[in-house]
Amino acid sequence: MAAIPLRVGGEDAQRVLESPGILVFPSRAPARAPRLRLHLSPPSLVGGELAVLSRTLTDGWIAPAGPVPEQFEEAVAEAAGFRHTAAVASGTAALHLGYRVLGVERGDEVWTQSLTFVATIAPAVQMGARPRFLDVAAESWTMDPNILEDQLHKAATKGKLPRAVVPVDLYGQPCDLDAILAVCGRWGVPVLCDSAEALGAQYRDRPVGKGAALAAFSFNGNKIITAGGGGALVSDDPALIARARHLATQAKETAPHYQHETTGYSYGMSSVLAAVGLAQIGALPARVDERRAIFDRYAAALSDLPGLSLMPEPAWARSSRWLSVIQIDPKAFGATREAVRRALDAAQIESRPVWKPLHMQPAFRGARFHGSGVSGQLFERGLCLPSGSMTAEEQGRVTDVIRQCCRG
Ligand SMILES: *Cc1c(COP(=O)(O)O)cnc(C)c1O
Repeated sequence: MAAIPLRVGGEDAQRVLESPGILVFPSRAPARAPRLRLHLSPPSLVGGELAVLSRTLTDGWIAPAGPVPEQFEEAVAEAAGFRHTAAVASGTAALHLGYRVLGVERGDEVWTQSLTFVATIAPAVQMGARPRFLDVAAESWTMDPNILEDQLHKAATKGKLPRAVVPVDLYGQPCDLDAILAVCGRWGVPVLCDSAEALGAQYRDRPVGKGAALAAFSFNGNKIITAGGGGALVSDDPALIARARHLATQAKETAPHYQHETTGYSYGMSSVLAAVGLAQIGALPARVDERRAIFDRYAAALSDLPGLSLMPEPAWARSSRWLSVIQIDPKAFGATREAVRRALDAAQIESRPVWKPLHMQPAFRGARFHGSGVSGQLFERGLCLPSGSMTAEEQGRVTDVIRQCCRG
């Protein structure tokens, strides 16, 4: 199969390369034009994508079935350290299937941390579940196990336990899973880990999410490994993944006619996406090292500034550092997080505030929140910096602007 030539040059090429979602397939190592604008987490190609895609298509595989998604599932199972994987259309679809296989129904409660992306809880809410949001611990920015314990105890006394607890491995940082599993285990509440941002991270020398009933990963274009879109639900329990697969393919019973005991979804991962993911996933350890090195360079260049601190990493965690995040105390630093964000933007550098806590989102008005406000303060002070592949010179542009903002 011949590659489709990209007939653009100069300014146009720059524009195409920077359009979100545009993948340009180089034949060998991806040549990188100097970038005008630095993005938070742009997709980066490993170079083998076109070859695997081409082989997949010439072999006649394109549907969300067949050997390529299966090979990708095996590769994900190995990379994630779980026995069983269902590759699906997105990380959100993986979470949705997770909620289904855990039996979430209308009126059930589902608990998660307030500081996360909306996709963590959106499928459960769409299923009619009621969300409850817990604060994060300042030491990790992930679900505070003490608040969880407290609230589970109270809920058990009232006989109204949640159907599932969903901690998030935020920005690549593993949650304190053993502590969460211990309290959830006491009440028999299953744990679904939203590990969408944390493939390749480690918790106490084991892969992130390992020990939870289920974990969900994402291969969206902005994640550390991308399939150009896609996700995976993983578990060590074969029955849960078999059930997820059944639901992901329209819940068809084994019969020559179309027989359905329940309704499912069209959530299978296309062979086209699986081929891209397959080409990418071998680069995971190198990508984690690269993102950790980027974080370390930010730390070296910025940590002497008054009022500026970087996302902590507790002793149990080896974060993937999917995103490098700083916190700015406006009094000591002499400028607000928003002033820094605007200065970066003016210098053609994308940065973004930390997730706006879900208990502060109009979409979840009325939902309960427990905590002392760590999430809210992180939202006010936290800023995510460009964290994808970039040269030391490009990263220097970011740290220069931040240093210039400091009036402390
Ligand atoms: C990216 C992400 C998702 C959703 O993944 P998609 O593949 O984009 O659907 C879910 N949760 C978190 C925390 C994420 O960062």
